[in-house]
Amino acid sequence: MYDVIVVGARPAGAATAMLLAQRGLRVLAVDRARFPSDTLSTHQIQPAGVARLQRWGLLDKLLAAGTPVTDRVRFDVGGTVLAGRFPAHGFLCSPRRTVLDKLLVDAAREAGADLEEGFHVGGLIRDGDRVAGIRGRDGTEHRAPIVVGADGKHSLVAKEVAAPVLREVGPRTVASYSYWEGLDQPVGELYHRPGRAVAAFPTNDGLTMVYAAAPVTEFGTWRTDPERHLLDTVDGCGDLGKRVRNGRRVERLRTTVDLPNVVRRAHGPGWFLAGDAGLVMDPVTAQGIGNALADAELVAATIADGGTGEAYQRIRDESRLPIFDLTTGLAALRPPKRFDGLFLRAVARRQDSVEQFLGVFAGTVPVRAFRRPSNVARILVQRARG
Ligand SMILES: Cc1cc2nc3c(=O)[nH]c(=O)nc-3n(C[C@H](O)[C@H](O)[C@H](O)COP(=O)(O)OP(=O)(O)OC[C@H]3O[C@@H](n4cnc5c(N)ncnc54)[C@H](O)[C@@H]3O)c2cc1C
Repeated sequence: MYDVIVVGARPAGAATAMLLAQRGLRVLAVDRARFPSDTLSTHQIQPAGVARLQRWGLLDKLLAAGTPVTDRVRFDVGGTVLAGRFPAHGFLCSPRRTVLDKLLVDAAREAGADLEEGFHVGGLIRDGDRVAGIRGRDGTEHRAPIVVGADGKHSLVAKEVAAPVLREVGPRTVASYSYWEGLDQPVGELYHRPGRAVAAFPTNDGLTMVYAAAPVTEFGTWRTDPERHLLDTVDGCGDLGKRVRNGRRVERLRTTVDLPNVVRRAHGPGWFLAGDAGLVMDPVTAQGIGNALADAELVAATIADGGTGEAYQRIRDESRLPIFDLTTGLAALRPPKRFDGLFLRAVARRQDSVEQFLGVFAGTVPVRAFRRPSNVARILVQRARG
């Protein structure tokens, strides 16, 4: 008998299992995958997520695995360039999921959690109206008074408990990405062009991950030749196109439209949802891994302290819904409205404003604080004064 069973053992699940085991609970985490295992995901971890890994004693291992540090980002929105370092000496890194997820799985085991790989959950066990365990597709059963669904955007746990959907925006983008060698890529580069978003980040093994997104309505055309569309897109991004074309693609191109934007109720009798299972958004702002790690911390503390889940849900939604709305807005890939364009140009003029802007995506500056009328006015007045 376990205290907690966690379904899914990537960022949300493995981290939840690790933190619960560190608090002395008997934990079983299961995943149908076997690690190391890749997954369809680019992998920028925003500074707030990196700081969590550091607190958990895992950052050194991630860096020792050859994960480069990205402390500067260049964000080009239709020719307005916001370039700078992250506030408070934070940095971002972009580890391959084969590296990050294995590290977390190992950390969960080291903390004392049982972790079963290749275990495919087929259903939940009930005790009255409470969830009381899991049933594998092979019929194996495991029981616990709490089951955490950390099983990703198509969560079986969420479906089985009929977790209410609180907010939903249909998929907005088609995204393609792959890995190139031979690019000189010391900084992270992001581009927004009308109808396009692009990211290029250094990752393990000296490779650069290059990602391009277009409106999902263009999928029919995009899918005929995703690589040509990706290359044509990066050609419109300064000299990035030239550098990519001079480099060599070393892995297959991945393309997906499976990019939902959904917020679900995150807890109920005998169950919690963490990570994408509870709240998933378009990767255009690269928030998912950091969110999953943040959820892990909140869920583990709630369970270990005997909390009900209301506080978890409230904290998650207060911090996450503003960036969810910002993300679904940006994922529409529309050019900035006139005022937004003017505001961005004002932000670009001052380094402290650029750092604040980067802090929104880094998870260190609340969206509401950045958008507060007094802050917007401050930035515009500073620009007017030259
Ligand atoms: C194209 C793309 C690009 C992205 N880029 C970024 C980025 O740059 N930065 C970022 O932060 N986020 C990014 N994301 C989002 C990020 O991948 C997710 O937010 C993150 O993986 C969520 O972690 P998780 O642990 O909640 O779920 P997942 O990583 O999805 O893990 C869920 C696990 O549950 C397991 N599972 C599911 N069902 C079962 C079952 N029935 N039985 C057993 N196991 C099960 C799966 O095998 C899987 O291992 C991107 C996503 C996509 C699609």
